[in-house]
Amino acid sequence: MSYTHIFAGNPLDRGDIERRDEQLLKEMIWQDSAKFLPFHKLNPLILKKGQAELAWISNKFLKQLPKEIGDPKFLGFDSERNPCFAVDVSLVKKPSDISNYTDQADFEDGRSAAISITNEQSGILAQARSNLNWHAQHRFCSVCGTESQSQRGGLMRECRKCKTQHFPRTDPVAIMLVYKGDRCVMGQTLARSNSTFYSCLAGFMDQGESIEEGVRREVREESGLEIGKVTYHSSQPWPFPSSLMIGCHAEAISDEIVSDPGEMSDVRWFTKEDVKLALEDKLDGVNIPGPIAIAHHLIKAWAYQTKT
Ligand SMILES: [Zn+2]
Repeated sequence: MSYTHIFAGNPLDRGDIERRDEQLLKEMIWQDSAKFLPFHKLNPLILKKGQAELAWISNKFLKQLPKEIGDPKFLGFDSERNPCFAVDVSLVKKPSDISNYTDQADFEDGRSAAISITNEQSGILAQARSNLNWHAQHRFCSVCGTESQSQRGGLMRECRKCKTQHFPRTDPVAIMLVYKGDRCVMGQTLARSNSTFYSCLAGFMDQGESIEEGVRREVREESGLEIGKVTYHSSQPWPFPSSLMIGCHAEAISDEIVSDPGEMSDVRWFTKEDVKLALEDKLDGVNIPGPIAIAHHLIKAWAYQTKT
């Protein structure tokens, strides 16, 4: 059994066949049933009446948008086969004008929004936010420098000149709880050096590297520890901007920590008793990630020998 984290569990049918038909995509945008999720500077519009939810708008608001915004990006079909799109409204002067929700909806930071909406909706948020960011950051062909054009509803950009096809990137990150017997390792990055925040070790995967090799290399670099067994736990999309967190448990076969001062301000062993206190926010001087992050679940699964 696998665990579905926040930002996973997207229920949309991504419509792989339909999105290859450019004419059909254009027609779907103007169907009465089409739904659009606006983002302003990558912050989604959230409806806050009762249970918070994604604030979809209809296509009549598209006509108010400057044409530089470009075509909405196709996310897929919901359970009623309504076509769902994401649209970047960062260029709109008064973004509050684009919806008829008035003061019931607002653009909200993706992390805080994800905690208040359902898991399924946070999955849609992750897909839409990563895709819109990729288009905003990759307008030009990396081969010849010519402006490229979004195709397949946003799952590809093709260069207008040399026809090179470019695809949205996802950056894999290995994140692991290192343990040995009844102790585990957590670290504090330099960016958090003036805080009490400790978490799992983590780092971007290198090219030409298996997950197990990435885990062993990152642990060695950040803590000096050697790792034997690596066990996969679960994964989590992390749309800031487009990571995939690959969660593992990693069994240490050495004890002495030699942390990397260029990256970590502290790395240390914690007892299982202290980790259980930290999970309940009762350990003096130590705070660990909350349930939004896969690190929380890796720590909890080890401390209580459960799946999550
Ligand atoms: Zn090109």
